[in-house]
Amino acid sequence: MNGLIDTYKRRINYLRISVTDRCNLRCQYCMPKEGVSQFGHSEILSYEEILRLAALAVKRGINKIRITGGEPLVRKGVVHLVEKLSGLPGVNDLSMTTNAILLREFARDLRRAGLKRLNISMDSLDPGKYREITRGGDLNLVWEGIEAARREGIHPIKINVVAIAGFNDGEIEDFARLTLKEAFQVRFIEFMPIGSLSEWKPEHCIPCAQIRERIERFSPLVPMAEGDNGHGGPARLFRFPGAAGQIGFISPVSDHFCGSCNRLRLTADGKLKTCLFSEELTDLKPLLRSGASDDELDKKMDEALLTKPLHHGPIGGVMKRCHLPMVKIGG
Ligand code: SAM
Ligand code: SF4
Repeated sequence: MNGLIDTYKRRINYLRISVTDRCNLRCQYCMPKEGVSQFGHSEILSYEEILRLAALAVKRGINKIRITGGEPLVRKGVVHLVEKLSGLPGVNDLSMTTNAILLREFARDLRRAGLKRLNISMDSLDPGKYREITRGGDLNLVWEGIEAARREGIHPIKINVVAIAGFNDGEIEDFARLTLKEAFQVRFIEFMPIGSLSEWKPEHCIPCAQIRERIERFSPLVPMAEGDNGHGGPARLFRFPGAAGQIGFISPVSDHFCGSCNRLRLTADGKLKTCLFSEELTDLKPLLRSGASDDELDKKMDEALLTKPLHHGPIGGVMKRCHLPMVKIGG
């Protein structure tokens, strides 16, 4: 059986699976204030359907899977999915992106089910500002979730910080300093033009080069050696000399990494999305629900791969935008 290779000869080995478009937070940059109309119960893929697609993809070379959402921990039974995915022969890296609000109660079961790594979104270290950006989230719960995950030996724990000018730029140094004593990988992510157009303005996005410069005013950063990047993915990784943790920069806006993009996304309602910034989706659900064979599903995946663009820009100086909110895509 052929591997998953796109038109530009990129080998796809990473699948991000969104299990829900629901969320227990309403982050200002991800979700419109009024929320989004949610998929109905029958619209989202069942765990059996997700597993069938994941198993097919794994047979074709996917060895890295991330579970995301919406907030994955709000979907009932997600631990069962983790267990099944971790049991697929060939999956050697299974992780989850979560806001960690429910992590305290799930950490142990997730670990036992085979989850090894976690990415946790936390855009402010200040409880009031965290509440503001998430429209009501409790930062204490996030820290309790992180502690619970550490107790269970989930490692590494990556902390994702979307850097937004005028909101959390004053906290860049504090986030970086967290890595001095704690073995976190703190990753600064450029704010991307995804979702509601009114919320994103170019001036809100802080280029990673600027973030790095600010951090280096505090102390120089040492690049991590190739191969020692702790599953850094598209992050460029550094550390302060002698620090316990690492600092990563993810620059989809100022310096895209499309040339080495190895990923494919499956939305909660069963659509393959080959590029975060493209609105082209390949719907697998009708096939899944009409008794299609594995061969037919494989063929549809190949068709989807043909839609994977070479890059998302900036094209002619203007970056492509995706109007679907991130909560519907699975970040
Ligand atoms: N609810 C989970 C969470 O927040 O970690 C998983 C889903 S969330 C959509 C995945 C990631 O996308 C989060 O780290 C979030 O910060 C990031 N994200 C959402 N919208 C974004 C944007 N416009 N630019 C950059 N990152 C974004
Ligand atoms: Fe929910 Fe994650 Fe989006 Fe925040 S970033 S609204 S936690 S899906």
